[in-house]
Amino acid sequence: LAPAHIRAISPYQPGKPISELAREMGLAEESIVKLASNENPLGVGEKTREAMLKSLADIARYPDGNGFELKDALRRRYGVALDQIVLGNGSNDILELAAGAFLGPDRDAVYAQHAFAVYPLATQAAGARGIEVPARNFGHDLDAMLAAITPATRVLFIANPNNPTGTFIPGDELEAFLVRVPEHVLVVLDEAYTEYLTPDQRYDAIAWLPRFPNLLISRTFSKAYGLAGLRVGYGLGSPEVIDLLNRVRQPFNVCSVALSAAAAALFDDEFLSRSYALNCAGMAQLTEGFTQLGLDWIPSAGNFVTFKVGDGAGVNRRLLEQGVIVRPIGGYGMPEWLRVSIGLESENARFLAVLPAALG
Ligand code: PMP
Repeated sequence: LAPAHIRAISPYQPGKPISELAREMGLAEESIVKLASNENPLGVGEKTREAMLKSLADIARYPDGNGFELKDALRRRYGVALDQIVLGNGSNDILELAAGAFLGPDRDAVYAQHAFAVYPLATQAAGARGIEVPARNFGHDLDAMLAAITPATRVLFIANPNNPTGTFIPGDELEAFLVRVPEHVLVVLDEAYTEYLTPDQRYDAIAWLPRFPNLLISRTFSKAYGLAGLRVGYGLGSPEVIDLLNRVRQPFNVCSVALSAAAAALFDDEFLSRSYALNCAGMAQLTEGFTQLGLDWIPSAGNFVTFKVGDGAGVNRRLLEQGVIVRPIGGYGMPEWLRVSIGLESENARFLAVLPAALG
C-alpha cells in the first residue's frame, strides 16, 4: 500500500476533453467550444509546424537528452548560459523537479490560497508539508508569505500571473520581495503566462538571476506558443540549482518533436504577437460581456478570466449541455466562480450567447 501522504492526494482535475463531452452529450465534436485549459486558440504557428514535421524523420532515435538545440535557442533569446537552463515535460515537470530536489519529509513549501493546483500536489507527492497562505484580493499576499516561512521551508511557489485568478504582481514588488526571502528558500517563480503581460506590466526576472541564486523561473510553450499537447517547458536558475534539478530529471524527459518545435516557436515573433493581440481583443470581448450581464469578474493578466456566477457547478453543467466547456474552480476554494479561457472571437461569442440561459 502507498504511504499516507500519497493516499491523501486528490488528483489534478483537467479540463474536460472535447471528445469526452461529445460522447456524453451526443454532440458533434465540431459543435463543441472548449475554453477550459488556457490553450492557444490559434493552434500552432506555421514555422513551428514545419520544424515538428521535419523532426518526425528521426523518430526512431532517442531525443537529445541534453536538449542542446532548444537550450541554445533559449541562450540566444535570453542571454543565459546553457548550465542555467533545465528543460521539462511541460512546465509542470519543472515544478515537480523543484519539489523532488528540494522537498521531502520534515521540509515545507509555502504557496498562496487559490494558487495553481500543482504546488500543493507536488509538495504532497514529495512527502513535504504545504503551508497555504490566505490570498489578498484573490492574489498573493507577499508579506504574509514571507511571514509564513519557517526554518523548514525550502520552496516558495509564486505564479505570476496566477492561475486560476489571473492576478498579477508588479515586477518592482517581486524584486523587493526576493531581497527579503531567506537564502535557504528556493523561490519558484512560475511565469507560465508571462507572454500575455501588457507592455506596462512586463518585467525581466531573468535579469535578477545573478543577484538571487535561490530563484528558479519556470516557463512553458503550452500557452502563448500553442504547444500544450507536446508538453515542453523550461526552468532558468543558477547553475547550482539547475544541476540539482537535472539529477532528479528523467534522462529523456522531453521528446524530440517537442524539442524541435519549441526551438522554432521561440523565434516566431509574428505568431507570438498575433497570439497576444487576439488575447487582448478576446479579453475585452469577454469582460464587456460580463459587465453587460452584471457579473463580477477578476481583472486578469493571463489568457483566461474568472467570473462569478453563484452556483458554479450548476452553471458549468448547463454550459456543458450547450456544448461549451469552461473550468469549474471549486477545487481552488472558489465554488461560486468559473474560469473561461480566451478563445477565437467566434468561440467567445458563442460562450457569451449561451451564458445568460446557463445562469438560470
Ligand atoms: N503553471 C501555471 C500557473 C499553469 O496555469 C499551468 C497550466 N495549467 C502550468 C504551470 C503548467 O503548464 P504546462 O505543464 O503545460 O507547461
